[in-house]
Amino acid sequence: MPMLSRFSAVLALAACSLTAAGPSPFFESGKLRVLILSGRNNHDWRTTTPALARILEETGRFDVRVTHEPAGLQPGALAPYHVLVSDYNGPRWGPVAEKAVEEFVRSGRGFVSTHAASYPFGDMEILGAHQTRTGQREPPWPAYAELIGARWSAAAPRSGHGKRHLFRVKWTDRAHPAAAGAGEGFTISDELYHNLRMLPGAQVLATAFDAPAMNGTGKDEPIAWTTAFGAGRAFHTTLGHDASALSAPGFADLFARAVLWAAGESAPPAAGQPESPVRVTLVTGGHDYESSLYAAFDHPALRVRVNPHPAAFRGDLRKNTDVLVLYDMVQETPEDQRRSLTAFLEAGKGMVVLHHALADYNGWEWWWRDVVGGRYLLQPDGAQPASTYQHDLAIEANPVPGHPLAQGLAPMLIHDEAYHGMWISSRATVLLETRHPASDGPLAWVSPYEKSRVVVIQLGHGPEAHRHPGFQQLVRKAILWASGRP
Ligand SMILES: [Zn+2]
Ligand SMILES: [Zn+2]
Repeated sequence: MPMLSRFSAVLALAACSLTAAGPSPFFESGKLRVLILSGRNNHDWRTTTPALARILEETGRFDVRVTHEPAGLQPGALAPYHVLVSDYNGPRWGPVAEKAVEEFVRSGRGFVSTHAASYPFGDMEILGAHQTRTGQREPPWPAYAELIGARWSAAAPRSGHGKRHLFRVKWTDRAHPAAAGAGEGFTISDELYHNLRMLPGAQVLATAFDAPAMNGTGKDEPIAWTTAFGAGRAFHTTLGHDASALSAPGFADLFARAVLWAAGESAPPAAGQPESPVRVTLVTGGHDYESSLYAAFDHPALRVRVNPHPAAFRGDLRKNTDVLVLYDMVQETPEDQRRSLTAFLEAGKGMVVLHHALADYNGWEWWWRDVVGGRYLLQPDGAQPASTYQHDLAIEANPVPGHPLAQGLAPMLIHDEAYHGMWISSRATVLLETRHPASDGPLAWVSPYEKSRVVVIQLGHGPEAHRHPGFQQLVRKAILWASGRP
């Protein structure tokens, strides 16, 4: 019964992982396991929760999971995690889930909460937004206020916040591991919560001055603090009203440090020097297009400057551009532009020719024959008739294995425009092909040009193509490869 025994082995492994956050086949090894509690909030959790997850993932230290139904939590489900993050404000979770969370932290694990998660369950002394909305007041969960380390109060001075504004957060306890190595402070646009009643045991790490001009208290208000909850480590920050607030670099740093500390690691997040982004000049002009195109370039590995004709090729492209992406459609090639393009390519810089840029410079033979390895013919040329196009086709595109750029590409069905009757160099290395009768076979290729890396992608007419993940992947891979990366 081989099936049965393999199943038992998996169960045994899972059981091991439930005891001490040990190895688990369900998580990436070597990473700290974070479970974000979300799914209900009087704030926009549908954008804040992914933003919080992204901050953690980008450090490379965490394997982040999210539950949108914390009420269903069982003790066993929490066991593999090192730390819980609450982005939740809503109804109580019920005795089983609440006890599971309480025991999880008491037993020595971590708990980090942001903004409205300081008053989720009606265990505050005022009727806050949540109670007004649901029209009912739930009995308190006293341990939760202890976990947060603070309580809201309707009595004077009333807990709340002034006008949302830009303010400066200052670290006040730089010796704490969650603050060590952080800068002096940072600026954020957020709600500045004030007059919370701090509970004994809360250790304030950062404050901000609450300006009276913004209906503030005129005092330094606690912004981030820790609490001891049993053997566990809990951290709360009042920051985090929305995704815009979370985008402050200082917030990302504070939050990642806090989660790392709560997970039991004292070292700051890996500062790992990310590879500097590829500098891309995207040349447009001569053909209209929709801004959906830019989605394909929205990636941290790329820094994109859009430069329309005729300015694009003035000056020395080599100085500020690693990869030139052409999405223009232009015939005129003044001498200075030819010189600039030629110098760029002969210097070994990369180029990606996208879609209608295949019709660039029909009359510059070196360009289309040697550099691009393809030409969309606007006019017949001798025996070869003009090329044709057809919009709004469902095109089946299949990768052609062999070239490193084709590795990891999957077959795709894309709604796009096809070209037919192009001249394509017999020395081009085809990356993607189709059998659609209205299209030439090759949809993407590497040019035979030897001095620099040139990739040609025929696809990419409109929003349906621009937004296709397969198209975006192809464009990004082409740019990274053209820049000289393996
Ligand atoms: Zn808020
Ligand atoms: Zn087009």
